Amino acid sequence: MAALQETDADHAPAPDHDVLIVGAGISGMYQLLLLRRLGLRARVFEAGTGVGGTWYWNRYPGARFDSESWSYGYSFSQELLDEWDWTEHFSPQPVTERYLNLVADKFDLRRDIQFQARVSAAHWDDDARTWTLTLEDGSRHSARHVVTAVGPLSTPTYPRLPGLDDFQGQSWHTGLWPKQPVDFAGKRVAVIGTGASGVQAIPIIAGQCAHLTVFQRRPNWCTPLHNAPIDKAEMESIRARYPEIFERCRETAACFVHTVDPRGTFEVTPEEREAFWERRYAEPGFGIWQGNFRDVLTDRQANALLSDFVARKIRARVTDPAVAEKLIPKDHGFGTRRVPQETGYYETFNRPNVELVSILDTPIERITPAGLKTTERDYAFDIIVYATGFDAITGSLDRIDIRGTGGRRLKERWKAGLETCLGMMVDGFPNLFMVMGPHTALGNIPRSIEYNVEWIRDLLSHMAARDLTLVDARPRAVRDWTAFVKRKGEGLLSNEVDSWMTGVNMNVDGKQVRTIARYSGTAPEYRDWCDNVAAGGYRELAMD
Ligand code: NAP
Repeated sequence: MAALQETDADHAPAPDHDVLIVGAGISGMYQLLLLRRLGLRARVFEAGTGVGGTWYWNRYPGARFDSESWSYGYSFSQELLDEWDWTEHFSPQPVTERYLNLVADKFDLRRDIQFQARVSAAHWDDDARTWTLTLEDGSRHSARHVVTAVGPLSTPTYPRLPGLDDFQGQSWHTGLWPKQPVDFAGKRVAVIGTGASGVQAIPIIAGQCAHLTVFQRRPNWCTPLHNAPIDKAEMESIRARYPEIFERCRETAACFVHTVDPRGTFEVTPEEREAFWERRYAEPGFGIWQGNFRDVLTDRQANALLSDFVARKIRARVTDPAVAEKLIPKDHGFGTRRVPQETGYYETFNRPNVELVSILDTPIERITPAGLKTTERDYAFDIIVYATGFDAITGSLDRIDIRGTGGRRLKERWKAGLETCLGMMVDGFPNLFMVMGPHTALGNIPRSIEYNVEWIRDLLSHMAARDLTLVDARPRAVRDWTAFVKRKGEGLLSNEVDSWMTGVNMNVDGKQVRTIARYSGTAPEYRDWCDNVAAGGYRELAMD
């Protein structure tokens, strides 16, 4: 907080920009637009060659939303809502990328976005009260404020296996997929990883290649997406219901259109329960996860019953009982990790050209020039697909050398545990804001993004109106919010399970133990906190 007493800022040269934004995905694009509308000089640095963030990098076969398209797009512009037609209930990546490019064009965003510009460092100067961002090309840019819009799932991670660079064939990570389509025809393919990305890619690749071997570590509970096209007439009816749809998303716990059923699992008869779950399983989207009985993610017995229901579905869809058993999770209950939404995933294992290898039974020992070697045998492949996930939530922040007051590194600040104010600020890092950082509400992510981006806009507007140049979270506010986040995680079965949601990634140093990386209260509660801070005149923040 020493910076608050400094006055040298009055004599320091003016920074190049009012705000620098890191990332041109859904968050960064919207933040740029709003800050520009506020009259601030804002600029975005984006590592890719195009806009879209997640929807720019993740162009693997089968990549698509698993939130309903019409609940996922931006809601801020009536003109955009009027103009854009979704073509499928769960939009495929190419359409989404087109949509985000349309947004960039329509709002003339590109003139303030610098592409192929990866930020490597962000250093705060206490005296000048400015941030200096250094790009990988060595250029430096200064600003009064910085907004990180780097995404919670955007730094791909590879398995820690010897020989990773020895493979002579093609290898691709789902999160770094090339722009030119990968030709699987006639190829022997390996997919390593069966999270949401692998589960989307596997059925498509199986249909295109000569032979597919899926290397599964821990199986996930996957449920049907039930995607369908949207014709003109249906799109018009959706358009007429946009206000109602977005209102509903505002009210639900995780901003999805699905609403938790107020009944407890054991408050209904076994027949009613079974019929309810059958309906949920047959419905599109996350209903079975986000719209289930109120206690299925907190009550062990309720969760075990639901898990048994989904296990029966898997057994019914997979012909070979031994393969079905391998696909059924035994180490965690349904919904306690992110539920992958699938289209023909289980049936893929009935195909003669698909083999499932459980690497819990026969671990991969190394990647070889020809393919890979498990404890059981050698495999030869033409293509290896790594669907092995991301260094989630803090990963993309950790890769930037962020230093706040007194030169303290953000990574160091969080060493003893993540602490934030509202998931957007950290004390000792003045004028730095995170969109979709740790401890913020995620869920149906654009809904949460719009809220955070607007909150940051309002704060900067408040400061501009009062000629304030410095804002820092008060330590007390950080302690209070962090304690609330921890309290909200209590009793959730998901917090007893290793996953990116609990901060675990065995492929990343220092991420072997669970942390409370994610806010797991409801989105309305989250917004109440943030709204109260704003309505109270930002007393939780120190301003100067
Ligand atoms: P993920 O859920 O973290 O899954 C990674 C997979 O790779 C897991 O099966 C994991 O096994 C396996 N794996 C990791 N390291 C391994 C190793 N060293 N050896 C063998 N297997 C290894 O990653 P993801 O599938 O990319 O999905 C991440 C998140 O992105 C999702 O949960 C979701 O939030 C988001 N996403 C969204 C969509 C969508 O909206 N449509 C699509 C894709 C992804 P273990 O489970 O045993 O660790």
